[in-house]
Amino acid sequence: MIASARMHNSISIDVEDWLQSVVDPDLPLTDRFCRNTHKILDALAGVGVRATFFVLGLAAEKAPKLIREIQEAGHEVQSHGYGHRLVHTLTAEQFRADVERSKKLLEDITGLPITGYRAPAFTITLDTLWALDVLVECGFRYDSSVFPVPMRRYGIHGAPHYIHRLKTPDGREIIELPVASYRIAGRRIPTGGGGYFRLFPYSVLRRTLRQLNADGHGGTIYLHPHEYDPVELGELDHPVPWKRRMHQGLGRKGFPRKIDRLLADFDFVTMQEQIDSCTDLPVHEYRCRPEPSASGR
Ligand SMILES: [Zn+2]
Repeated sequence: MIASARMHNSISIDVEDWLQSVVDPDLPLTDRFCRNTHKILDALAGVGVRATFFVLGLAAEKAPKLIREIQEAGHEVQSHGYGHRLVHTLTAEQFRADVERSKKLLEDITGLPITGYRAPAFTITLDTLWALDVLVECGFRYDSSVFPVPMRRYGIHGAPHYIHRLKTPDGREIIELPVASYRIAGRRIPTGGGGYFRLFPYSVLRRTLRQLNADGHGGTIYLHPHEYDPVELGELDHPVPWKRRMHQGLGRKGFPRKIDRLLADFDFVTMQEQIDSCTDLPVHEYRCRPEPSASGR
């Protein structure tokens, strides 16, 4: 165990099927996400770590037994929306219908209130901050959808890289848990999950959490079931452009080993426990307030 292991970090898993969520949202889900999620459950059980699973509504419909297994293993079940539609492609009412549908599905399965949300592909940006008000109106208390580093299609420049209370455009509040990022040479680079985690050596992620913990912040890591599936791209029948195949397949083989090391080096709690362990969270507000548009309100 390393010196900074006492901070409350969290691991989150977006339970979805790669083909449907990344390649084409109109495709049916394959069964692969079930067996890959079981691999993650086994890895967590092996070290007694509980995590937060943001479950896609479509995945819950297809595999309610899996969701019950996640819950029975002591993990936190929260929402990744229903159909993996990017927030900026939806109107506010379409977004509301998507999150309400997934919330009800998961509440029916778990018997518990669903209060945490992560947007598909982190698509709550300065242009879609209205979605935060919809989330609050739907009963969500925390969100993990604002990527703290600007990327090509998502992320907010200057967003806090630590847990905070975020003011919505309508003046309400939701707790925001950004994924972990690493500060180097005055810049932040995204290291806390997904493709970055696959491509960077493990030492970069370890430094990320050490740095955040040394600054007094817990870190949030994210991963997907398909990252436990190194043979998926070779077995799929569906045509996938070679560039995407290459980018999405890189680093999958060594991914589970990195997670095992992470689980051994740091302490993790669920995201709700991470929130509960914080006192006096800072408040953040984005100054720009986007006007309603065809794709938002
Ligand atoms: Zn997703």
